[in-house]
Amino acid sequence: MAPLDVHNQALLDKVHPFKHVNPKPAPMYNLVVVGAGAGGLVTAAQAAKRGAKVALIEKELLGGDCLNIGCVPSKALLACAKHAHMATHSHCKSYGINIKGGDASTSVDFSHVMTRMRKLRAEIASNDSVKRFQGLGVDVFIGCGKFVGPHKVTVNSKIELNCKKACIATGASAFVPPIPGLADVPYRTNQTIFNLTSLPKVRVGVGAGPIGCEMAQAFRRFGSEVHVLEAMPQPLAREDPDAAALLLAALKADGIRFQSGIKFDAIEKTDGGRICCRFTNDGGSHSIACDELLVATGRRANVNGVGLEAAGVKFTRHGVTIDDCLATSNPDIFAVGDVCLREKFTHMAGETGLMVCQNALFGGKETFSSRTIPWVTYTQPEIAHVGCYERDLEGSKFHTFTLKSDHFDRCITDGCGPGFVRIHTRRDTDEILGATIVGDQAGEMISLFTLAMHAKIGAKKVSQMIAPYPTQSETSKYTCNQYNIRSWGGWDGLKKTHTPAMKAALL
Ligand SMILES: Cc1cc2nc3c(=O)[nH]c(=O)nc-3n(C[C@H](O)[C@H](O)[C@H](O)COP(=O)(O)OP(=O)(O)OC[C@H]3O[C@@H](n4cnc5c(N)ncnc54)[C@H](O)[C@@H]3O)c2cc1C
Repeated sequence: MAPLDVHNQALLDKVHPFKHVNPKPAPMYNLVVVGAGAGGLVTAAQAAKRGAKVALIEKELLGGDCLNIGCVPSKALLACAKHAHMATHSHCKSYGINIKGGDASTSVDFSHVMTRMRKLRAEIASNDSVKRFQGLGVDVFIGCGKFVGPHKVTVNSKIELNCKKACIATGASAFVPPIPGLADVPYRTNQTIFNLTSLPKVRVGVGAGPIGCEMAQAFRRFGSEVHVLEAMPQPLAREDPDAAALLLAALKADGIRFQSGIKFDAIEKTDGGRICCRFTNDGGSHSIACDELLVATGRRANVNGVGLEAAGVKFTRHGVTIDDCLATSNPDIFAVGDVCLREKFTHMAGETGLMVCQNALFGGKETFSSRTIPWVTYTQPEIAHVGCYERDLEGSKFHTFTLKSDHFDRCITDGCGPGFVRIHTRRDTDEILGATIVGDQAGEMISLFTLAMHAKIGAKKVSQMIAPYPTQSETSKYTCNQYNIRSWGGWDGLKKTHTPAMKAALL
């Protein structure tokens, strides 16, 4: 954690206090939680609030990735990046706002951006602090947790904790691909990118997934020259291809340079102390020299060094193996969050934490498969998704309805760029199977479809929802109305049932 300024010091005081003394262990815990990221914290807090005797073990910082090196710092940077973009002359001009001196007078104080981020992160940290958890009655241990038996966990190999149930919440770490030379150059991952205090002139990002794209947009809008190198044929390969294409166009318009389908030849240090990426693309050899290299090529579950074998917990390189109730191969040990889920998101770590508390301690049968899972890429525009993609539905019978949001009044008055709402419905029914939204408010808008899918509210009912005018949510309502139009036989079919007066009115 650097720099060690007043804000980071305040953060550490909350999530890894220097003077912390591990408590004397209780003879037996109802629940021991290993890892205090979003998943571990929610599990521990919920269990303690419901009266369980809980021990929580964290080897680094309470709050885990989300608070310290993930969601919170990245969203704080993106907020500044959005304002930086809005303040540029070309952007303001289209709204009739003149900045004296034009673009020349607009500059980003990167040092302030990072200080702001550290300040906000330290503020938010109160919720994840040792003090808060002690207040809830949780025994907080700082040290490395390791299973030494099916019901026994040690802290730093010294303190022994006995438990009836346990929860593995050790999260995931940045995956670093085996690129020739990478290990010999200084590079950053999400672990270290938020320690920067000066803006790199040229920044190369390896990987064009959500994290790679979010950080590319932020740094570009702060003023760096940004290149993104991606081995897959397309950036954002997991996303709906149309959504990915819209975002890619927006990122390119920001000035980010993408190279996809590349093969790295080598990464090496130059004589001038820079980092040179050499790669092949489209049959040609290319090289880019940069000041900072960010590796954002996915995440790998933290399964090593946790003593899973001693606990009788099965795992693969993708993570801890769980059943639908989040139990591992040891029925008294459960897992939550990134260490066991394909959906590596804070809201899923938290949700699985709630489920594990119920299942492990209160005989619950909460199932993962009963949940409807949304996610968002927080670029501008945002991409939000829930449920199935078109590719997931191949071989089954479904319909897809898409409506561009740019034609809606609110998007026009606000000057939003291109976007759309897309839903997939089971064929000949209005059951919504999946939704993708691209737009400035996509992350907020996706909750409507998440609830609709979870509560089994069909497209017909959503189309009857009254959306306030003018809001971007109107696009969601009218996308669902496309289902009605189709079931009425399309516009042509509609016209057939119309009276002559209505037909005339339609013309
Ligand atoms: C740059 C970035 C941006 C992101 N943005 C978003 C976002 O906007 N929205 C979103 O939903 N998700 C986002 N994520 C993903 C999100 O951060 C993770 O899904 C979430 O943090 C997972 O929580 P977790 O509790 O499973 O794991 P973690 O947060 O990784 O916590 C695991 C904890 O376990 C500790 N630990 C590991 N091994 C041991 C051990 N043996 N003993 C004791 N402690 C141990 C670790 O130190 C860590 O603190 C982002 C991730 C990154 C990297």
